[in-house]
Amino acid sequence: MLETENKNTLYNYRSGVDFALEQDQNDPLAAYRSQFLFPKDKNGEDCIYMTGNSLGLQPKQTRAYVDDVLSDWANLGVEGHFNAKNPWLTYHENLGDSMAKIVGAKPIEVVVMNTLTTNLHFLMASFYKPTKTRYKILIEADAFPSDKYVVESQLRHHGFDDTEGLVLWKPRAHEALANYEDLEAILETQGDEIALILIGAINYYTGQFFDLKRITELGHKHGCIVGFDCAHAAGNVALNLHDSGADFAAWCTYKYLNSGPGSIAGCFVHERHAYNKNLNRFAGWWGHNKETRFGMRDAFDQIPGAAGWQVSNPPILSMAGIKASLEIFNDVGMDKLIEKSKKLTGYLEFLLNQLGEDTIRIITPSNPNERGCQLSILVQNTDKTLHDKFTEAGVISDWREPNVIRCAPAPLYNSFQDVYYLVERLKKILNSSP
Ligand SMILES: *Cc1c(COP(=O)(O)O)cnc(C)c1O
Repeated sequence: MLETENKNTLYNYRSGVDFALEQDQNDPLAAYRSQFLFPKDKNGEDCIYMTGNSLGLQPKQTRAYVDDVLSDWANLGVEGHFNAKNPWLTYHENLGDSMAKIVGAKPIEVVVMNTLTTNLHFLMASFYKPTKTRYKILIEADAFPSDKYVVESQLRHHGFDDTEGLVLWKPRAHEALANYEDLEAILETQGDEIALILIGAINYYTGQFFDLKRITELGHKHGCIVGFDCAHAAGNVALNLHDSGADFAAWCTYKYLNSGPGSIAGCFVHERHAYNKNLNRFAGWWGHNKETRFGMRDAFDQIPGAAGWQVSNPPILSMAGIKASLEIFNDVGMDKLIEKSKKLTGYLEFLLNQLGEDTIRIITPSNPNERGCQLSILVQNTDKTLHDKFTEAGVISDWREPNVIRCAPAPLYNSFQDVYYLVERLKKILNSSP
């Protein structure tokens, strides 16, 4: 475990701008920045874009791939399924393999389909099998609202009370982060009533990256199914979904994966469930055996693995955005990306901590292995006007009431100078506040 002191000596952070310039010059990933389109500030300069945790930037290649699909559709009509530059019939298959590498899974475990919340419901249709005595669902207390609505509505759908059936893993009083001992205690007392554990792999609010393997082992020990929402983790941290042993996972592709607003999502089902035909699902023709799919007369014959959860033929225009994005990820590789990410986020933390506890407090874990690139910064004595001034100053960050700014330096396109100037602008705003 790296503590703050070690981190600072490991990277030899310094406070002047020359450190940022030096790092950018020596950054092996610096060239990737030019593959993305940046929104402009009021002076026509690139914004300091720090919201890859919410919507990643557009790769320049995306437009070309979307255009290819439009042209193929215009020129070929339905024949595009077979004769397009990248035939639509198999368009999603390569994407699943690339996606598997990003989340640390085997190709058979990953598919790109639907959207995130939809996938959670579809996966729960298979993996949430409540009985009279084991029906509860455990989530982290400050789960993303959509996830909370998913589990509450699933409880109601199965005829259970959505308050009584929901178990919350809460941080202790006056603490921001969840604690594994508390999870153990919950499972010791209520484990045999809990059917399913669904945790955000990285909590969207605090940026805490959970130990998926530890949670999975704990859950399995008590007979619970374990799933993860990886919206804030995919393309951000080393997920190792296969090794974690999790039963299922889902994530969106428009945050760190830069595939465009509302683009289709990813889905993981562990290999141990790949051939289990008794695992019922809400089926559709795209999950049916490819050899006989167009025979149209056969009984449902699921494709082994995650692909067998597909329902509809996929939106190719949206897939084009994913293709453009995943090519960049494949080119860089998660290892190099994470290496830069740790250094870049550590730099942001270093500069912010110099502002002092009276001004800001970072609620994200300081251990680099317990977070991704996002830092959630609690700003003392402030309100949303701070965020408005930040935006006015050309910094795009993300505000959460009552007083938290989330900044996520994305290692694919953010620079050390971005981080430096972000903190400079923050200082200027704080100093000029009445
Ligand atoms: C972003 C996010 C969502 C959004 O869900 P969509 O179905 O893509 O609208 C859901 N859950 C978490 C944890 C998220 O971070």
